[in-house]
Amino acid sequence: MAQTAPRQPHTSGWQSQDSAHHLHPFTDYKALNAKGSRIITHAEGCYIWDSEGNKILDGMAGLWCVNIGYGRKELADAAYAQMQELPYYNNFFQCSTPPAVELSALLAELTPPQFKHVFFTGSGSESNDTVLRMVRYYWKLKGKPYKKIIIARDNAYHGSTVAGASLSGMKAMHAQGDLPIPGIAHIEQPYHFGVAPEMDVNEFGLRAARALERKIDELGECNVAAFIAEPIQGAGGVIVPPDSYWPEIKRICAERDILLVADEVITGFGRLGTWFGSQHYGIEPDLMAIAKGLSSGYQPIGGVLVGDKVADVLIGEGGEFFHGFTYSGHPVAAAVAATNLRILRDERIIERAAEDVSPYLQRRWRELADHPLVGEARGVGMVAALELVKSKSPREDFAPAGKVGTLCRDICVENGLVMRAVRDTMIISPPLVLSREQVDELIEKATRSLDQAATRLGEVMR
Ligand code: PMP
Repeated sequence: MAQTAPRQPHTSGWQSQDSAHHLHPFTDYKALNAKGSRIITHAEGCYIWDSEGNKILDGMAGLWCVNIGYGRKELADAAYAQMQELPYYNNFFQCSTPPAVELSALLAELTPPQFKHVFFTGSGSESNDTVLRMVRYYWKLKGKPYKKIIIARDNAYHGSTVAGASLSGMKAMHAQGDLPIPGIAHIEQPYHFGVAPEMDVNEFGLRAARALERKIDELGECNVAAFIAEPIQGAGGVIVPPDSYWPEIKRICAERDILLVADEVITGFGRLGTWFGSQHYGIEPDLMAIAKGLSSGYQPIGGVLVGDKVADVLIGEGGEFFHGFTYSGHPVAAAVAATNLRILRDERIIERAAEDVSPYLQRRWRELADHPLVGEARGVGMVAALELVKSKSPREDFAPAGKVGTLCRDICVENGLVMRAVRDTMIISPPLVLSREQVDELIEKATRSLDQAATRLGEVMR
């Protein structure tokens, strides 16, 4: 039998093979190769370890996804058992598998009442591609084929596939790919600190929401299929909308004949203290895109939760929907996701985080606003952001944007904390199982990192 080569247990070996052969997502390859990757070898609870033996508090739950924390053996057991029983079968050609069936029934139980159906995908990007195709198909079935345009927001992140990146409002992504594709429009984001800090926050929220109404009028309601938004913009920098924002969006969508889609890829499965971010804001969407927390990142799986308004038409009036993926409802991924959801439900992980650790995290996080580098500290549930500024009053941002955020991020890792930088906004999204002691550790490490960043900036400016 062929032997597989033993893995090289040392950092430089992995790093050189990595730079020789591996193209990473969202990466400047030359810069990475000059530095070498950090090789993450194992994880437990809320900590990750690198190949140098450094133990790092994972303030980002991987990539906003390991809601349940690392090292839950039940999920590994579910994958092992399912791989032995049935490692793969598809859900095409009138077939289904027990894990796909059970996961869809569990999702119907755990989601708001209008959701009884799910279309499975392999990722958040595929979920949003599915949204785009499904809403256009829906309107065709309803006899309104002109309703094709989807309105999204500046600075949104909905994925990296062609439709996902087009729905996203990231200018740099659009510039590289000749995007967006036709039939997608963007409106302003509800980013008070970044766009109009001088304005009353709720006035600003109403203005940002009414941009949707203006855009629908400009494009013609008869041409607009849907509005898609993240309840809180995540990758854009944890943009928490003003309280006035979502009620106004809801009013506009209710008055207009368009579908409301919540991208719950980050906010789904407990991030904001409720099972779905839509419940926190009372959004009541027609469709929800999900991924990440669905399996706590243990397996790649996503989906689109389809509300009755759309499902009734697809099922009642449709023929074949020509859309789907080889791995839609993959049995191993579905078995792991179902186990993850049962643990979240039975151990009340979401409710317990909402009652105890997240109020504590949010209180302690806001203490960071006193730091000279911090212009604003905000957050909801288990997600939060800090705005780094050169001067608080009068307000002055760093120029060029992004350098200080990157510096602070690198210092955080040196101090044993993963905190991500989006331009000069520092963000966290830790596992929901973070303890109060770990909140204290996170705040202590963040404070130390901010102090060190301030010192290094002082040295540069001197
Ligand atoms: N939507 C949102 C809100 C996201 O944050 C992400 C990923 N960060 C995606 C979609 C895309 O998900 P994926 O990377 O699984 O394709």
